[in-house]
Amino acid sequence: MKKDCILSGLIGLCVGDALGVPVEFKSRDELSKNPVESMIGNGTYNQLAGTWSDDSSLTFCLAESLCTGYDLNDLSLKFCRWLNEGYWTPYGKVFDVGISTKKAIQNLCNGKEPTRSGGNKEQDNGNGSLMRILPIAFFTNDMYVSTMVKVVEEVSSLTHRHNRSIIACSAYVFIANNIIRGKNKKEAFRLLRLNLPFLFSKEKGEEYNNELKHFKRILDKDFFNLPAEKINSSGYVIDTLEAAFWCFMNNDNYKDTVLSAVNLGEDTDTVAAIAGGLAGIYYGINNIPKEWIDAIARKKEIIYLAKKLDESLKKRWSYIGFELLDRINIKKPSKHIIKQNYEKYIKDCENEVRGVLQFSAYSFGYPESDHAVVDAGEVNRQVWRYYHANKKFDIFSLGHLCTAVFFISRARHHQGSYPKKPEEGEVAISKEIVRRIHQLL
Ligand SMILES: [Mg+2]
Repeated sequence: MKKDCILSGLIGLCVGDALGVPVEFKSRDELSKNPVESMIGNGTYNQLAGTWSDDSSLTFCLAESLCTGYDLNDLSLKFCRWLNEGYWTPYGKVFDVGISTKKAIQNLCNGKEPTRSGGNKEQDNGNGSLMRILPIAFFTNDMYVSTMVKVVEEVSSLTHRHNRSIIACSAYVFIANNIIRGKNKKEAFRLLRLNLPFLFSKEKGEEYNNELKHFKRILDKDFFNLPAEKINSSGYVIDTLEAAFWCFMNNDNYKDTVLSAVNLGEDTDTVAAIAGGLAGIYYGINNIPKEWIDAIARKKEIIYLAKKLDESLKKRWSYIGFELLDRINIKKPSKHIIKQNYEKYIKDCENEVRGVLQFSAYSFGYPESDHAVVDAGEVNRQVWRYYHANKKFDIFSLGHLCTAVFFISRARHHQGSYPKKPEEGEVAISKEIVRRIHQLL
C-alpha cells in the first residue's frame, strides 16, 4: 500500500470538496470569467473558507465505520446521525444533501435493510454514492477484485442501488485500488478497460450488459484526449465520473487536478472531491498545498481518523479474504473429498506449487477466473500476510490459501508463462500448506 495513502486520499477528497463548495451550481461560463484559484469562502452556501460538504461527511462516516470492521448497520447509523444530528459536519449543520441520498438515509433511519434502502430507478443515478465510496478502496486493497465489487455494491446500495451507480463506484474504486498499489495512471486505466466489461457479467448478465453502454466513453482509450467542451460535470453519476477521471488524467499535480475539476462548473464540489481523492493518493500528501490543508475545518480530527483507519486496516488481516470469501458462497467440500484429493496430489507437492493448485482446484471447486491476472498480485500479498500472521490454520483457511496460490499460477498461465518454475516464496508457502494439511488430516 502506498505510504500515507489513506491520509492523502481523505485530505485530497476533502480539500477538493471545500474548494468546490462556494461555487457549486455555477456554470462553466461564469467560472471561466472568474475561476477559482484558491480556498475561498461565502458563495453558494455562504460558508467559511475550508468548509466541506456532504461528500466529505459521508466519506468520513464510512472511513470511521471501517475502523471497527465492515458493518453496514453501523454505517447506516452513522449516516442517520449525519442527517439528523450533523455528525461529521464542519460546524454541526448539514447544508447540502441530495434528494436521493436524503430519501435513502431516511429509509435507513426508519429501519429499512441497508442494502435495500437506496433507490434503484434510472433517475436515482446521481453521484451520491460515488462521492463517498473512496474508503472502500483502502478497505478492499488486498482483496480479490470480485470481492471488492461485492463490497462496493453493498455500500453503494445504502443510498444508490441502481447498477449504473454500482458500476461507476466499482470503476472508481478499481482505479483507486490500482494507484494505491503503485500503478501509474495509464496502467490503471488500461487495467480498467481490460476488466470492467467482465466484472459483473456473470452474475448480472443481460441487465448488466445493457448498463455497460453508459461506460463506453470511459472505456475508450481516446477518452482523455477529448476537449473540455465534451466533458459534462453535472451531478449525474456518469458525468461526474467522466469529469473526475478526465481531470485526473489531464493534469500532473494535485492542485491543477482539483482546480480544473472545480472550474468545469456545475457539481463543482463533488467532481473535485472525487478527482481530489485520486490525485491525493497519486501525488501524495506533500503535493497538496499546505495552506489548503490548513484551511479545512476539523483538520486535526480528519488526520486522526486517517491514522485510526490505517492502523485498524493493518490489524485486520484475518478479515481479508476469509469472511468475505464466505459471502461469495464458495463451495465447501467434505473432509472426505479433501482427503481423497490430498492423497492423490500430495506426490506432486514436493517441490512445486502445481500439486497444491490441483488439490485446491479439485477440492474446493474454485472456477478458473478471467480476473486471475488482476487478482494475482493482491492474492500474493494476502497469502504472505496470512502465512506470516496466522498460527491457527483450519482446513478451510488452508483451502483458501491453496486457492490463492492456484490463482497466482493461473494468472501466469494467462500470461503465457506457466508452467514455469515457481518462485521461492511460493514454494515455501506451498510446502508449509502441505505440511499443515498433513497435520490436520
Ligand atoms: Mg456536496
